[in-house]
Amino acid sequence: MNIQFSTMDIMHKEMREDMIQAFANVYDKGWYISGEECDLFEKEFADFCKVKFCVGCSNGLDAIHLMLLSAGIGDGDEVIVPSNTFIATALAVSYSGATPVLVEPNLNSYVLEAKEIEKKITKKTKAVIVVDLYGQMADMEPIANLCKKNGILLFEDAAQAHGATYKSKNIGYYSDGATFSFYPGKNLGALGDAGAFITNNKILADKFRELSNYGSSSKYIHDSIGYNNRLDELQAAFLRIKLKSLNKITEERQRIANKYLENINNNKIILPVVESDRTHVWHIFSIRTENKNNLKEYLSKHGISTGEHYPIAICDQTAYKNNDFGDLPISRTIAKQQLSLPLYFGMTDLEIEYVIQKINNY
Ligand SMILES: *Cc1c(COP(=O)(O)O)cnc(C)c1O
Repeated sequence: MNIQFSTMDIMHKEMREDMIQAFANVYDKGWYISGEECDLFEKEFADFCKVKFCVGCSNGLDAIHLMLLSAGIGDGDEVIVPSNTFIATALAVSYSGATPVLVEPNLNSYVLEAKEIEKKITKKTKAVIVVDLYGQMADMEPIANLCKKNGILLFEDAAQAHGATYKSKNIGYYSDGATFSFYPGKNLGALGDAGAFITNNKILADKFRELSNYGSSSKYIHDSIGYNNRLDELQAAFLRIKLKSLNKITEERQRIANKYLENINNNKIILPVVESDRTHVWHIFSIRTENKNNLKEYLSKHGISTGEHYPIAICDQTAYKNNDFGDLPISRTIAKQQLSLPLYFGMTDLEIEYVIQKINNY
């Protein structure tokens, strides 16, 4: 058997006619940036997230950057981010002029908890960005209380967690705002780069929109040094179609993940923990093992591709060689031991069972 780590083939075959129709509609309408499709997608995605405002933009990284700028965060400020995340979360903080401060996650659920964040709060801390890593939300209620107590903002980088919940509440409920990536491989993906910011705060939403469009609140009036970080009509049209299937696709991801959780029983493998107050949307099914290269090679020999999220911790990246992040043993352990199993819409039972069998025989 040959099992890819991820593929969109099956999902995209199902949607092909609708996607081509969407392309034709936008093509014929002749309006390609920030138009009717963007407006409709923003409304539909805000409804999906149960928040008041959604502003589409160019990608997930720009979304985090503009979210920070919208809140007035910049030079001299500190922003707390997880020590184990995709580099984009930290990069966006650096773009803003603020300093990223890294906080260790829970080693089993891979997301942030209040007690570790509290240790890193200083007078300069302006915000915390939690990352709903692999598709699971952070421990939001205590974190939100901690942020309130300290007068700092709470944001979510939800690039991996479209549709995840915490205590039955959606992303954006406990925070001042959240960003999404619609990179093609994300749970909700465009056919190119795209992103969004969601919030219940009108001031932040308006500022974000202004900054994403040349700092302009109305045509040729420029109130700030803005950017060109807008969403394309085509991508919005494609996203509207995919959004309709997102719940179905998430349920399928959950079914596959649950099969892994129930049937993988090899004491060399540490399975991911889903906290009981959360629904996980399984962007990544992340396991850990002592000698991951050994396991990776073994699975590869049996035709099973795997991923790594992420093999080098942020504190060990050359880009951040001049930052002193302190001792971060948990994120280094995750970087060393972490491996991601195949999980995608359309994976057959035979394929799922094959992966389980091979891992159990390892
Ligand atoms: C993908 C991702 C991003 C960046 O999104 P892009 O759309 O690729 O810019 C940011 N944060 C996390 C956690 C991601 O997984």
